[in-house]
Amino acid sequence: MSNFFHTKIEYLKGIGPMRAELLQKELNMYTYGDLIQHYPFRYLDRTQFYRIAELDESMPYVQVRGRVKGKQLLGEGRKQRLAATLVDEAGDEMELVWFKGVKWMEKSLKNHTDYIVFGKPTEFNGKYNMAHPELEELAEEKQTTSFLQPVYHTTEKLKAHRIDSKVISKYIESLLKIAAPNIHETLSPDLIDLYRLTDKRSALQNIHFPESVEKYNAAKFRLKFEELFYIQLRLLRQKVVRRADLAGQIFKQVPTVTEFYKNHMTFDLTGAQKRVIKEIHKDMTSGKQMNRLLQGDVGSGKTIVAFITMLIAADNGAQSVLMAPTEILAEQHYTGLKEFADRLGIKIGKLTGSSKTKERRELHEQLRSGEMKMIVGTHALLEDVVQFHNLGLCIVDEQHRFGVEQRSKLWRKNPRIIPHVLVMTATPIPRTLAMTLYGDLDVSVIDEMPAGRKEIVTVHRFDSHRLRVFQFVRDQIKLGRQIYIVYPLIEESEQMEQYKDLMDGYESIRRAFPEYQVSMVHGKLKPQDKDYEMQRFVKHETQIMVATTVIEVGVNVPNASVMIIESAERFGLSQLHQLRGRVGRGAEQSYCILMTGYKLSKDSKTRLETMVRTNNGFEIADIDLKLRGPGDLMGTQQSGVLDLLISDLAKDAPILQEARAAAQNILHDDPQLENAEHQNIRRHIQSLSANTVNWSRIS
Ligand code: ADP
Ligand code: MG
Repeated sequence: MSNFFHTKIEYLKGIGPMRAELLQKELNMYTYGDLIQHYPFRYLDRTQFYRIAELDESMPYVQVRGRVKGKQLLGEGRKQRLAATLVDEAGDEMELVWFKGVKWMEKSLKNHTDYIVFGKPTEFNGKYNMAHPELEELAEEKQTTSFLQPVYHTTEKLKAHRIDSKVISKYIESLLKIAAPNIHETLSPDLIDLYRLTDKRSALQNIHFPESVEKYNAAKFRLKFEELFYIQLRLLRQKVVRRADLAGQIFKQVPTVTEFYKNHMTFDLTGAQKRVIKEIHKDMTSGKQMNRLLQGDVGSGKTIVAFITMLIAADNGAQSVLMAPTEILAEQHYTGLKEFADRLGIKIGKLTGSSKTKERRELHEQLRSGEMKMIVGTHALLEDVVQFHNLGLCIVDEQHRFGVEQRSKLWRKNPRIIPHVLVMTATPIPRTLAMTLYGDLDVSVIDEMPAGRKEIVTVHRFDSHRLRVFQFVRDQIKLGRQIYIVYPLIEESEQMEQYKDLMDGYESIRRAFPEYQVSMVHGKLKPQDKDYEMQRFVKHETQIMVATTVIEVGVNVPNASVMIIESAERFGLSQLHQLRGRVGRGAEQSYCILMTGYKLSKDSKTRLETMVRTNNGFEIADIDLKLRGPGDLMGTQQSGVLDLLISDLAKDAPILQEARAAAQNILHDDPQLENAEHQNIRRHIQSLSANTVNWSRIS
C-alpha cells in the first residue's frame, strides 16, 4: 500500500482528533490502513426478514421490518426506559425497549417511520420484545447496493460516544470512496492467475459491502490468502537468508554414537526416530547452521533423539545445552538424559534457579573449561556468567515460543560460530499453528510410537459410578499395578478450594483402600518432600499416587497402568492428553478413566468424547485449536503473533497450505524478488515493514 494508507484516521471526514484518539485506544486503529482492514465480523442478511408471528424465544438474533407506532418514556430517573411499538406488514406488534441512552433514543427514534430492527426476541406476558435492538431506517437502507450489511466490532466505550457499528461502516464507506485510486495490487499477476484471485480493490470493496455472494466469497478468499501468504513469505525468507548467511560447525565424527548404538541401547529405535536423527545429522554436516523443529507425541521418544543429537556434538568436541521452560521439565529431561549419559561415562549437569551457589560455581568452571559436555537447565542458563568452551548445539524445549531476544542470548554464547538449534515442543501442536509460529524452521516429526505399546483404553465415568471404578482399581492393584488419581489445580485464585478437594480426595482414598499405601504430591510440598513421596511410588512402596497436575510432567513409572482424572471436565484437551501419557509406558494394558458429574457443557462433552475416541496427540491438538482458538491454546505470549485480521487457523488450513506453497515457489524461482513479475510483492513487503504497527503483529 502506498503512503495514502499511512494517513492518520483523524483526517478522514467525520472522525477528527477526538474520535481518532478513542479509536486508537479502543481498537488500536491509527491509520487509513488500519481502518480499511477493520473487517466485519459478521453480516446482516438483508434478504432475511422474520414476521413477528414467526418469532420464538429460541432464535438468536433476528431481523424484523416494520413501522414504529408510538413511543413513550416510562419510569423515573435511573430507572427510566423508553418503549416503542413496532408493527409489521401482517399487523402484528412487538415492543422495543431501551434502558440506556434513553433520552437520546427518544429524540432520534422517528414515529410513523419504517425501520429494520435487529436483535434478540424475548417473550414477556405473551408478547415479544427486543431490548436495545440495532435500528435502521428503511428509506436509508434502500440506497445501499449491498445485500449483506457489515457488522463491525466496537466497544462499550465507543458506543457510549456514538461510534457504533453503523458509524464505523460509514467511515469505511467514505474511506473506500477516496481510497480507490490508491489501492494497488499487492499480489503478483502470476499468483492472481494461478489461484484465480479477485483483485485487491474489489476484495476490499466486497469484504465490507458485498455486491453478491460470489463476490463476497472471492473477496474473503483473496484477503485470507494474502494475509497468510505474506506471513509465510516472511518466515521462508528468514529461512533462506539464514541458510545463505550462517555457517555451522561440521560434526562429521560419530565414534561414541556408534559405541552407544552397539553396546548401550536397550531398545531399537523406531523408524521415525531413525529418520529424524538422519535429518538432524544431515543438517549438522552441511556446513550451515541447523534450525529445526522436532515434534512428537507424548511418549514417542524425543529424549533419546535429543541425547543422540547431543552425543554427535560431543563426538566433535562441542558442548550442548538443553533448555526447558520450567524446573520440573528441566528435572525430567535431566533424569532422562543422565540415564543414557551415565552408560557412556559422559559428564552431564543441571543448572536451574534453585541450584546452590557452590554447585553453580563448579558448573560454570566445568563449562568454561569444556570438561562438561552436556548441560540441562532453565533460563538460568542464559545468564552472562554461564560461558562455554565451545557451545555447538542448543536444544530448546518450549511450551511457548521463546522470544527472539532470549534465543539470541544462547546463540551469542559461542562468539566464533553460531550453535546448531533444535527446538522441541512439549506437546504436539497443530500443523497450521506450527507453520505460522515455526514456519522459519525445518520440521521433523516422530509420527510413530515405540513397538509393543498397547493403546491406552480411555473411558468416561460419572461420579455416581465411583464404587465400580474403585473395584476396578482394586483388581488392577491385585495384578501388581499402580494407580494415579489426579485432581485439577487450574487457576491461582482457586487454589485453596482445590487444595481442599485434593485433601478430601486423599482422605476418601485412604478410607476406601485401607489395605494399600497412598502417596500424595502437590505444588505446595517442599521439593524434598515431593521427591520423597515420588520416590516411594517409584519404588513401589505405595500403590496409589494422589496428585495435582504436577505429575503431568516429570514422572516415569512404567508399572503404573491406571490414570484416574477427577473433575476431568475442568482440564483442557491437551492437558488431559499429557496426563494420560503418564500411563501406557510399560508392557501392560493401561487405562485412563475420566470422572465427571452429570452436568457438562457442550465443549466439555467434546473434550471427553475426543479423549475416549483417540490417542493421537496431533488430532487432539487440532480439536483443541478449534475449541479454544490459537491465542488460548498457545498462551497469551503468542496471541499477538496469532492475531490474524481475517484468517482463522482453525478453519483455514487449506488456504494456509496453498499460501505457503505459493510463497515457497516464488522464493525458489526468485529468492531476491527481482523479477518484474514480483515487483508488487516486493513493494508491499517494503510498505509492510515501514508500517511498524502492522508488522509488530507478526514479528
Ligand atoms: P517423550 O517423547 O514424551 O519425551 P520419552 O523420550 O520420555 O518420550 O520416551 C518415553 C519412553 O519410551 C521412555 O521410557 C523411553 O526410554 C522409551 N522409548 C523411547 N524410544 C523407544 C523405542 N524406540 N523403543 C522402546 N522404548 C522407547
Ligand atoms: Mg519428554
